[in-house]
Amino acid sequence: MNVVVLGATGSIGRQTADVVAQHPDRLRMRGLVAHRDVEGMEALMVRFRPAWVVMTDAEAAARVAARAAAGTAVEAGMARAVARLEDEPPLAVVAAMSGFVGLTPTLAAARRGHRLGLANKETMVAAGHLIRAAVRQGGGQLLPMDSEHSAIFQALGDPARPFRRLILTATGGPFRGWPRERLEQVSVGAALQHPVWAMGQKNTIDSATLMNKGLEVLEAHWLFDAPLNQIDVVVHPEAIVHSLVEFADGALLAQLGRPDMHVPIQLALSWPERWEVGLPDLDLAALGRLTFEPPDHDLFPGVRLARAAGEAGGSAPVVLNAANEVAVEHFLAGSLSFLDVTRLVADVLGHRAPVLVDSLEAILAADAEARAAARQWAGRREGRRGHG
Ligand code: NDP
Ligand code: MG
Repeated sequence: MNVVVLGATGSIGRQTADVVAQHPDRLRMRGLVAHRDVEGMEALMVRFRPAWVVMTDAEAAARVAARAAAGTAVEAGMARAVARLEDEPPLAVVAAMSGFVGLTPTLAAARRGHRLGLANKETMVAAGHLIRAAVRQGGGQLLPMDSEHSAIFQALGDPARPFRRLILTATGGPFRGWPRERLEQVSVGAALQHPVWAMGQKNTIDSATLMNKGLEVLEAHWLFDAPLNQIDVVVHPEAIVHSLVEFADGALLAQLGRPDMHVPIQLALSWPERWEVGLPDLDLAALGRLTFEPPDHDLFPGVRLARAAGEAGGSAPVVLNAANEVAVEHFLAGSLSFLDVTRLVADVLGHRAPVLVDSLEAILAADAEARAAARQWAGRREGRRGHG
């Protein structure tokens, strides 16, 4: 099967490359899309000799083109990535750009009927209904790559099987158990130290605020047609149980394994087969115990905010996601404090009545408007901090 990776130079993209390299008899890298990581893309080109590469940044595209081998066509801009996806006969597309920016190529891949391996959860949060409709229209398959959703997909077995509850596990992030006073002071560096997973920066900060789990609740809602009140979250710091499904008789089915993204990435490509991943076996006796505790929704309000947005419906999840992306950018740049990230999201969300978003245009407009409001919020905050 041919594979195209959107966000090829990122954390999920590079792990997808490992999976493709491990199965040369089954998978072939056909096309790669990234933004501006020229060195990262060059390394992938040397490794796979893809037929085509798109850098969405024009200057990066020119630099990549200068280093490309004769068999690789290099183009610039998101529109070219979309056109390439539309031209290809059905193959597997790994949606692994970070954030809302991945929406148009993800929709294009779904409409074309490609197998869609979805890591890029922000697109599902903002436009789950459009992505589902596009998958139906294209006739391809949507397979979750987020570890929790992959676990639920596996535990369900048959996607049409009725369930009582989906239970998402969360590690609790690097600040689990910290008091509020300490949280006011956390540095960017500390927030980027995830206890279990090595991920891109945005996802890592989201894990620290629990917004990652909030986004995952909304992602599960769309992926599994699950009412929000049938999706729960439990903190499980060891990250061995990747999520669970509860059925009518109270039986819980879970998927367990090492916390390693190669597994759900590969499964979305191999399904319904399972292939060797090459990880050491999990020694349960050596692990000793698995622990579970409730999330602290007061200190880490990400899940509560996402639920509120999901219940409000319409544009609210778009606003939640846009405000969060802007807030995380400002936190990473040092211009917002850690607790301000979710304060900004709560404020921007709370000041907007949801509107109907039944088209891509409506979603893009709601996203742009919320981003502008979030930037203003951050600007005001910075002004106040600047004046002591
Ligand atoms: P990274 O930040 O590591 O990588 C992001 C990728 O997206 C890079 O290849 C980047 O390109 C590309 N990109 C960013 N902006 C653009 C743009 N405007 N146009 C084209 N490409 C762009 O993110 P992760 O790999 O961590 O995460 C990717 C997605 O997967 C996210 O939605 C995340 O929530 C989800 N996810 C990640 C997990 C993980 O373990 N990392 C686990 C579960 C889900 P460049 O490098 O060239 O700038
Ligand atoms: Mg996850």
